[in-house]
Amino acid sequence: MKNSNIKNLVKPSVRSLTAYQAFDIPCKIKLDANESPYGFPFGPLLAKISTNRYPDPGAKELKRMLAKRLAVSPANILFGNGSDELIYYLITTFGGPVLYPVPTFSMYGIISQALGEKAISIPLDREFDIALEKTLMAIKKEKPKLIFLSSPNNPTGNCFSAEKILKIIELSKGIVVVDEAYQPFSSEKGFLPLLKDYKNLVIMRTLSKIGLAALRLGFMIADAEIIAEVNKVRLPFNLNSLSQAVAVEALEEKGELAFSIKKIVSERELLFRELEKIKGIRPYPSEANFILFRTDKPEKVYDALLKRGILVRNMTGSVTGCLRVTVGTPEENKAFLKALKGIYG
Ligand code: PMP
Repeated sequence: MKNSNIKNLVKPSVRSLTAYQAFDIPCKIKLDANESPYGFPFGPLLAKISTNRYPDPGAKELKRMLAKRLAVSPANILFGNGSDELIYYLITTFGGPVLYPVPTFSMYGIISQALGEKAISIPLDREFDIALEKTLMAIKKEKPKLIFLSSPNNPTGNCFSAEKILKIIELSKGIVVVDEAYQPFSSEKGFLPLLKDYKNLVIMRTLSKIGLAALRLGFMIADAEIIAEVNKVRLPFNLNSLSQAVAVEALEEKGELAFSIKKIVSERELLFRELEKIKGIRPYPSEANFILFRTDKPEKVYDALLKRGILVRNMTGSVTGCLRVTVGTPEENKAFLKALKGIYG
């Protein structure tokens, strides 16, 4: 769908809304926002933050930096307090039905339900790829306002077929959100280059998976009209000053972030090969910073690992018979493998 009318997709109640105006007017004596005039002194690194002032409502410096890095305009970016918050904002803005494949990231369903919107889940195929026929049929029948596609997908770890995603973007009259939370670990280039061709495409990313989860900083990249509509439901100061400042510094340190991503990818490959060697374990190939693996005794393995102090995620309920392990440091991965081999030994 190349030329869609975004305004018609927005819920009437949001369409007629005016975004909260948080003015950022330069002045010498600031007495307009019920703040304390007394700040709390910080260490030298964060000295530029005034704790008594509200954060920059538009996160301008960070936005400028990120826009340059992604080669888009700042008007194409919206920040969330984690991408969780952006999912909330997207569903608040456009409403349901909300469609997504399963198993996938649970928040799409949880937030849809929280907001009273209809959620439609379509099971993935045997390869954990999108079941295209069924998905297209559901799109035709249910006309979802929003489709969430996590690629790489959590918890399965694979990227969905790019052709299938493209087909969905082209045929959907609603917004298609490609959630690229794990894209930095993937060998695929992602959907950012297609943004200019498809007005209904939203890309969602986060700093959470690359060492900055504490900041709670997610962002979406989309057509400026979509950004402006979603911005209307954004809480005025959703990104605190500390997170903004630390993120700017972290993004300036590109080398360090890139190094840790590379390290995680090479550890993931090592971990995968070692898991493959354990009889009774079937790891699934991953393009993310975790590996899903099938075991003949999930509860037992989960408990036995925990007894040895190692916490993984038990996926029973969403992918029966599977556990999900996040790639750690080489030492952590070694300890995990040793414990697992001990359990199976
Ligand atoms: N999308 C996916 C696919 C995720 O797995 C997660 C985190 N588990 C998120 C979004 C949320 O990330 P954030 O920390 O930015 O809220």
